[in-house]
Formats: sequence, C-alpha cells, structure tokens
Amino acid sequence: MDRTSWKSTIASYAGWFTNSLRRRRSVLFALFLSILLLVLCVQYNTSSDISIQSIQNNVVMSEFESDEQQSPKKQLQMAAAPVPVPGSVRKMKKDNDVNFIEEIQTRKSRRIQPNAESTQQQQPYVPPHRLIHIDFKGAPPKVTYLQKLFPLIKRFGGTGLLLEWEDMFPWTGTLSPMAAGNAYSRTEIKEILKLAAANNLEVIPLIQTFGHVEFALKLPDFAHLREVQESPQALCPSYNASNKFIEQMIDQILEIHGNVNYLHIGCDEVFHMGECFRCRAKAREDLFLSHVKQVATYVRAKSPNTIPIIWDDMLRHLPVATMQLYDIGKLVEPMVWVYAEDVYRFVMQSVWEKYQIVFSHAWTASAFKGAFGETLYVPNVKRHLENNLNWLQLMSNENSRFTGGFKGIVVTGWQRYDHFAVLCEILPSSIPSMVVNLLATTNGYMNQTLQSNLNEGLKCGIFGHTNEYDGDFLNLNNDPYLWDQFSRCSFPGNQFFRLLYRLQTIEADYNDFILATKKNRGWMTSYNVEHEFSSPLRVDELMNDHARIYRSLLSMIRPIQESLAGIFDKYTISEWIEQRVYPMIREMEKIQKEAHDLKAKKTWPKRPLPLLREMVRIGVIDRELPTPSSDETK
Ligand SMILES: [Zn+2]
Repeated sequence: MDRTSWKSTIASYAGWFTNSLRRRRSVLFALFLSILLLVLCVQYNTSSDISIQSIQNNVVMSEFESDEQQSPKKQLQMAAAPVPVPGSVRKMKKDNDVNFIEEIQTRKSRRIQPNAESTQQQQPYVPPHRLIHIDFKGAPPKVTYLQKLFPLIKRFGGTGLLLEWEDMFPWTGTLSPMAAGNAYSRTEIKEILKLAAANNLEVIPLIQTFGHVEFALKLPDFAHLREVQESPQALCPSYNASNKFIEQMIDQILEIHGNVNYLHIGCDEVFHMGECFRCRAKAREDLFLSHVKQVATYVRAKSPNTIPIIWDDMLRHLPVATMQLYDIGKLVEPMVWVYAEDVYRFVMQSVWEKYQIVFSHAWTASAFKGAFGETLYVPNVKRHLENNLNWLQLMSNENSRFTGGFKGIVVTGWQRYDHFAVLCEILPSSIPSMVVNLLATTNGYMNQTLQSNLNEGLKCGIFGHTNEYDGDFLNLNNDPYLWDQFSRCSFPGNQFFRLLYRLQTIEADYNDFILATKKNRGWMTSYNVEHEFSSPLRVDELMNDHARIYRSLLSMIRPIQESLAGIFDKYTISEWIEQRVYPMIREMEKIQKEAHDLKAKKTWPKRPLPLLREMVRIGVIDRELPTPSSDETK
C-alpha cells in the first residue's frame, strides 16, 4: 500500500472507531463506572483492615467534612476570636492534609496493640497523668455515689480528679451567697477529698477567676464586679474589688484542699473584655495576661508548691512576645482543650510552635460527656472515643516539643454548658463513656484486647459482649451510645442508663406522633384547633396512639426517680424530669384537650371561616372583619 492508501485506511479505521465510540459511549461509560466501583471496593476492603477500626476512617473523613463545632461554648469563642488573617484558612486546610497522611500512617502502624513483645516504635503514647473532670455545677452527686465512682476511676487507670465545685462549694463569709441551697457541707467536701485520697486520685480543684463567673456575678451581691453590667459572664479585671473577690475564693479553696500540687484557675472564654470605662483604654491581650499574671502570682505566693493551670483558648491567638512579656510561661501551665473529633483542626501546628517557646509543660483536655449538644442525655461514645484517640495521637506527635513534655490529659465531663444552661448528660448515663475513654487514655489505644477488662470492670457478667463487629469490637458504628453492650451490666448508675434506652424509644414514638398530628396530617394543626374545625373521624384516627404513648411516658417517672434516688438529691432529680420528660407529658395533655374540644363540636360554620384576629396584628388585614354573610361572599 502506498502512503495515500495507508492514510485512507487509517482514516477509515479512525472514523469507524469514533463512530463506534459514539454509538457505544454509554456502554463504555458504564464499563468505566464498573471499573471505578471495583477499585473502590478493593480499596474499601483494604482500608477496613486498618485497625482501631472504621471509627477512625470516619474520623479522617470528619476532618474534612465536618464543619460542626465542638460545643456551643466553643462556637462563642470562635465568634469572639479575631478575624483570621488572609491565608490562615488555607493554612488550616494544608495542616489537615498533612495530618491526614500522618494519621493514616500512624494508625496503620498502631493497629492492634502492643503487648509485651511489641516493638519499640509501636509503643502507644500514654499520658503520665489521666484525670477525670467532675463538674458539680448546680447538681451535686451524693457522696455515697462518689464512693462507688472513684474506685471505678482508679480501676480503669485514672490518676486524679479535676473538681469543679462552682456553686456546690460551701463558700463562707462574704462569699456565702455564692453557695447554692443544696451545696455540699464542709464535712462532705472533706469526705470527698478523703475518698479521692483513699483511691490514690490526686485532686486538682478548679475555680473560675475571669470568665464564666456567672454563679457569683448573677447575684446582686457581686453584680458590681461585672465587666458589662448587662452580663454576669466576666469580671472586670481593672477593678480592685474583683481581685479581692478572687483572692477570697482562692483562700477558701486552698484552705480546705490543703497543699495541692495544682490549682486550675479557669480563664477560658472571657467573652467580655475591655468594655468597661476602666478597661476600655487597654489592649485586650494586656488585660487578659496581666489579670492571669496577677491571679497566678497570688496563688504562688499563698501556696508556693501549687502550680496554677489555665484553659488555653484565650492564648491561642496571642503572639509569643506578648506572652513572654508577662512571664506567663513561668507562672502557669496551659491546659489545651478540644472536644471535637478533629483536634488538630482547632489547635494547629502553629499554636504548638508558639506554646513550645513559651511553656516547658502542657496539659490537654478531651471529653467523655457534655460536648456534643446542651440537651443530650446520653453521650455518643463513638465521637468521644475519636476525640480521645486523636488526642493521644497528637500528644504522641507533639510531646517532644516541650522540655518537660505533656503532664497529662483531663477527660472532661460537663454537667451544663454554663451556669444557666440545662443539665446535659449526667454522670449515671455516662459511665460507659467515661470508662471506655479512660481506658483508652490509660493504654494508648482501644481494641478488643481490653474487652474483658471492660466487661469485668463494669460488672457485665454473662451479658458482656465478646463479638467482633467487622473490626469495631464495641459496635460503635451501630450502637454509639453502647446501650446494647452495657445496659445489662451492673455499674453504678446502670438502672438509669438502661431506662434511658426505653425513654429514647418512647421519645421517638412521641416525636412521630407530634409530627403527624401537628404538622403532617391535616386535621389537628393549629388552624384546626384555632377554628375548632375538624373531622371527628379523623381526630379519632390521629389520636389512636395517644393513650399508649402518654401512658408510656407517665410510666417512666417513677423508675427514673428511683434509679436516681441514690445518686442525686430531689432537686436534681426533679430538674432532670422537668427538663427531659415533663415537656412531653404536658404536650400530650394539651393535645388531648384539643382533641376533646374539636370533637365537642357537633355542627360547623360554612366557609369562609371567621378570620383570626391575629391577622390584623401581622398586617394581613387592616381591621377585624365581621363573619361574612352569604351575600358578602359572592
Ligand atoms: Zn473593666
């Protein structure tokens, strides 16, 4: 063949190929999709082999996808933070990319965990100190309950307690109005401290000395110390009386706690700073640091062996030079807190780089409850475990930055988001979460080798699960609250924990019922109720499930009361029921009355129905209209 015929042959083949391609484009596309799917499946099978399970795959995903913030506390903090400088958002993303790769690698290498024979590099990081935070805010557990709780904390590797007394401390003298009516007595506090000592748990007391002083500043006695008159959130640091007030708090706390190694002086989330006439002229960072310096200096003078600790969030955006100017690194140790899963996202490499210059030691804080919603009643263990495991990884990575390393981790357990908030997850509903997370921080990992320990410690007997669910031995993907695993065990508070499982089922029925009667179906909406206009037959039909759900709700009251009787006083039990169960009972009673009234109607007006007076207020009509006569409606 000559060159021309070659060309024409090639051209005709090319034409045929292109045409076939066009004709078979959809077939090829389908083929391509199948191959892609196959590759993804193989990929998935390989990755499911990575231990510490699929949980961690989710963690990784959440680092990119989740824009959700760790707590409303934190949201406020972010809102109050300065606008990020250009590029900082990109930097964050970049940091995350690096973390992503590092995490995948380290997770692979951490796999199932080190026993005696494991190699040096596989040794998991275990924080020297592992504390459980007990937040007493407005709901004091009975001392007899703490008597059962502390040995459990010790058994699962806890070395100490961060005790946040707030209004549950028996404040005296001019501070006495700050003590709640149901605060602990001095004798009870001493008993609690003795119980901690008996279980080898070091106590670190926590008092708020800047922001979050609502429990004091809400009172008329201390309102003059506010930075902003309308808000009891923060103290004015430039007012001498504020310092006298703080010194009194420190004196009373140290007096009863004795010679403590550490005193946590709070200082997180100071939402009002530099707003009053005394503070207005000063820079916010100077106000913050000089106040911390003053309080810490007082603590050290009063008790030379006591090291003050502060929450770190107010320091994250401060320059190194400013922190050094106030000698903050010599006066306090920072406790870096993040309760969301993706810890590096909130405390980036750049922050660690600053902290390593300023401080020789650092603490960290994760959470086992009270971080994913103010009105939750059972902690999501899956999310908390991700948070704790990611902290361990971060601590392992960053430990060498500090000459003295990390001192320890506090696994926090918030009882309320602030002094004014309702109760979130209370202790008896959170014991499985506390234990799982404490055990993870004590060992540096969480996997099936710890299962018998968990089952024994929580007294699960024959009910302890031993199954492995696709590498997720706690089955957290299907049971994030651990109800299946631990509701038949006998840990302190188990009865209440089990009842919540039932309550959750009833609550789901209740929500479906409300959605149907008040929103989705058309015979009991507020319009029907307002105009007393509905079909009795349909009302009966909608009310079919009412009695069953209402009775189920009522039947929960007594068992809940009994299950909490040994744990909280009557005020806390009543508060919990009023917040969690009573609103549903009240709503069901309201709906019952509405159904009754709707059915009491035996005859109905012709349309149009009389217009609602409220329509005048919102501007739909100019004035109240008379019920139209048949003539007017034509
Ligand atoms: Zn001020």
